Amino acid sequence: MNEKIWLSSPHMGTNELKYIEEAFKTNWIAPLGPHVDNFEKDICTYTGTKQAAALSSGTAAIHLALILLGVQSEDEVICSTFTFSASANPILYQGAIPVFVDSEPDTWNMSPDALELAITSRIKLGKKPKAIILVHLYGQPAKIREIMEIAVKYDIPVIEDAAESLGATYDGKMTGTFGKLGVYSFNGNKIITTSGGGALVSDNEELIKKARFLATQARDPAPHYQHSQIGFNYRMSNVLAGIGRGQMEVLSDRIKQRRANYDLYKNELSTMDGITFLSEFRNTFSNRWLTCILVDPKKANITAEEIRIGLEKENIESRPLWKPMHLQPIFENFPYYGDNLSTKLFEQGLCLPSGSNLTPTDLERVIKNIKSLYVIKNKKL
Ligand SMILES: *Cc1c(COP(=O)(O)O)cnc(C)c1O
Repeated sequence: MNEKIWLSSPHMGTNELKYIEEAFKTNWIAPLGPHVDNFEKDICTYTGTKQAAALSSGTAAIHLALILLGVQSEDEVICSTFTFSASANPILYQGAIPVFVDSEPDTWNMSPDALELAITSRIKLGKKPKAIILVHLYGQPAKIREIMEIAVKYDIPVIEDAAESLGATYDGKMTGTFGKLGVYSFNGNKIITTSGGGALVSDNEELIKKARFLATQARDPAPHYQHSQIGFNYRMSNVLAGIGRGQMEVLSDRIKQRRANYDLYKNELSTMDGITFLSEFRNTFSNRWLTCILVDPKKANITAEEIRIGLEKENIESRPLWKPMHLQPIFENFPYYGDNLSTKLFEQGLCLPSGSNLTPTDLERVIKNIKSLYVIKNKKL
């Protein structure tokens, strides 16, 4: 059997281990410490945000963002439907109600038109949304300017879920820094990883201070344990923040490599009938976290799922695009606005192996196999 090719696996640089050893030597194992402080500074420097809190996950960051914006039971929160469930689950942690908004074709992210329709419809029902969770999927920034204009017009704060888009920009400004709060993830398959982790960012110092307080069990300033609010255990450990410091040093290289993967796939595969790629929308710079293709079965004579299964037989991992939230059993009864573009993306899409540690031989193997699946399928007809 050929060696496994993963969709997106961790890729360590040279200094991660050095930082971990430093934590061990100084016994800064538990819980916070200098790596956490420095990792937060590194995130601020790279993204241009003023404040960052390193947390245990991106999901925790979204949850805290909702709490900081005062989202409570029965409140409504707008969320992109085309995303991973972690964008929406924290809405339910708060007992609030997600209102899902579909995608537009240029970036596959939240449609500004559907967003405005959702807001005006909910306001007519007397339920003005408390927040908007805007996702930048697969590293491609959404139509941020249009979305922010609508958010300002109706005075609704935006939480940017930039879990997949660290380092991607819109008009030269980093995703995650446009909304009132931004979220990054350092989960194992993201563009950089701390094995598990996340960050909440904002230009508002009070909000991030409050996030750190809530993330460390909401201890009031007193020598004994005194609590007047519900707290969480959501902070990042100093050992993992050491990995994060090493990873921040190589983030720009990782983006370069992932963009090169995309360019190679596009050169090799876009000439094939029925295969299309998501282009970089004007004024945006994608980190190309994952390279995704759409396969139109009528033109290609093969489906995305047939390609996925064919690759799996060759020990190559690929994956369907995210299944929209409004089609998920846990979310299907919540309000939804849009034209079901996300359903088509789910049905026709495939994420190709996109790790920054793939070798030229690996990439060639993926491309060769997709091409031969094509030929075999078309011969049979
Ligand atoms: C990964 C991811 C998250 C969650 O991040 P974790 O660190 O895994 O909790 C949230 N939203 C999106 C879009 C993601 O891809």
